[in-house]
Amino acid sequence: MEAGSIDYKLREEEHKSIVKMLKSRGRDLLHLLIKADEIREEQVGDIVTFVRNQNINFSNICYVGCKFCAFAAREGEKKAYRLTKTDIIAHIQKGKAYGVSEICATAGIDPKANLETYREFLRLVRRHNPSTHIHAFSPFEIKWLARKEGVSIEDVFRELRNEGLDSLCGTAAEILVDSVREKLCPNKLSTSEWIEIITIAHEMGIRTTSTIMYGHIETLHDVAEHLQILRRIQEETKGFTEFIPLPFVHYNTKIYNQGLARASSTGMEDLALLATSRIYLGDIIPNIQVSWVKTGVKFAQTGLAAGANDFGGTLLEERISNYAGSPHGTFLEEKEIVRLIREAGRIPARRNTLYQILEVYQ
Ligand code: SF4
Repeated sequence: MEAGSIDYKLREEEHKSIVKMLKSRGRDLLHLLIKADEIREEQVGDIVTFVRNQNINFSNICYVGCKFCAFAAREGEKKAYRLTKTDIIAHIQKGKAYGVSEICATAGIDPKANLETYREFLRLVRRHNPSTHIHAFSPFEIKWLARKEGVSIEDVFRELRNEGLDSLCGTAAEILVDSVREKLCPNKLSTSEWIEIITIAHEMGIRTTSTIMYGHIETLHDVAEHLQILRRIQEETKGFTEFIPLPFVHYNTKIYNQGLARASSTGMEDLALLATSRIYLGDIIPNIQVSWVKTGVKFAQTGLAAGANDFGGTLLEERISNYAGSPHGTFLEEKEIVRLIREAGRIPARRNTLYQILEVYQ
């Protein structure tokens, strides 16, 4: 298989069945949730995993202008920041003291950054917390670095892997439909570019997560197309570790404030998407994650009854959703995650980024 050659054309029957599931409401939704929960039990049992991780968003300076983004700032704006080397070391040491097994890092497309900036970041992590897994950077950052340096995507991955990159974030996917992307993030990468970068990563043995950001301008058909693309990629590469549905956090975003997007998804949509993900993707992507930072902890807990089996991470310090106005905090204590999972009637277990279990809380 050549990178980017995935056949992601719609399969009509699959498409209809996904849309039907996503549309479920009332008792139909309850039936869907029961079905998803039964499939979850068969596929992954009663364990609900989480990861002790830390987010380091090392710069928010970015001129790309994605309309859903409240994180980016222009140089000189009050909220603009670029962490210094000393700041980054302090963050890494804080994570080390907390015992994180994963550092998750991403940044805006900062004109002052280049490949060396990214390599230097990885070196700092390796030097100050050598045993942690580095799960970092989005496909868009990879594309931008390749263009800026005049090298191939493969070269960027090679350079970053040599410095310690372990896995790639499956973000910048938003909705993998170009007509939606043109309105939402016209200057970012196209659907086929996202697929190409992700498949190159997988072929090089770099695992990635997979995501969807929904609840803005997309239709159920767009969501169905997105899910099919992820399935087709996974059938070919087996490179995705998990799927994370991310509801849009609208409060401080341009697209919402201009009246062009809705005020995120409803709780019913969130549950229907989690259940649909389990039913449609669970055999091939068995780890379906709830996002407490987007939905709040109680709703994330409810999502465990809708087919999900992963509670995400402690995060330690998260800025992206926080800037968008998420009222749900930037850090969740491990003991709180354990309590939430137990109270949902399930067994909490701490995992690493690649879903190996590190500790089960009986
Ligand atoms: S989503 Fe990323 S690329 Fe787009 S504006 Fe925000 S920081 Fe920049």
